[in-house]
Amino acid sequence: MSSRPRGLLLVVSSPSGAGKTTLCNRLRSEFPRLSFSVSTTTRPPRAGETQGVEYNFVDAPTFQEMIARDEFAEYAMVHGNMYGTSAALVRAALEEGRDLLFDIDYQGGRQLRQKFPQDVVLVFILPPSIRDLAERLRRRATDAEEVIERRLRVAREELRHYHEYDYLVMNDDLDGAYDALRAVYLAQLHSRERQRALAEAVLSGQEWLL
Ligand code: 5GP
Repeated sequence: MSSRPRGLLLVVSSPSGAGKTTLCNRLRSEFPRLSFSVSTTTRPPRAGETQGVEYNFVDAPTFQEMIARDEFAEYAMVHGNMYGTSAALVRAALEEGRDLLFDIDYQGGRQLRQKFPQDVVLVFILPPSIRDLAERLRRRATDAEEVIERRLRVAREELRHYHEYDYLVMNDDLDGAYDALRAVYLAQLHSRERQRALAEAVLSGQEWLL
């Protein structure tokens, strides 16, 4: 029996503009064993996005074929586009003991929890207030006012799902929010269920196997 724990599935969701991407990038650079789950989407690439890095960009018929072939661990319509997580990638990570970071919405988090209840941790990044979120979106200045209004409506809708998450991290201060996210990740890695096999290995006199 291998004493290596299964991989951990760390889901981080938030309304856009709450600082999730910055927090996730920081976590990945501190913990290289945490790899990013690159989703598939029908959304067209934005300037600066590269095929296979931020997303696998596909057209709508291809996405439908992937659904029919049961290739997604979860998928959902978000802001009018389809997004999905590769089932093969999740299975491989769990079996090989690699941790995966997901930037997906509450619909995706819910589906992953149903499929992998022992392995999923759901973290929601809260903006300090709707007003703060509006200011952050306006400061980005890439969107028209009506787009910002729509994003704020969507943000309220997403916030209503906070009770489906295990941890809520308010991003009123980037360093403080990062410390909290990091603490959640480390605490989950060391949960009894995840480390049980290690304890049993030590008890039975085995060397610590990796
Ligand atoms: P964006 O198009 O701005 O990159 O992402 C829009 C939203 O889609 C974000 O809230 C992001 O978390 C969510 N999203 C990205 N990939 C997936 C996925 O594979 N599944 C689900 N359910 N949501 C996703």
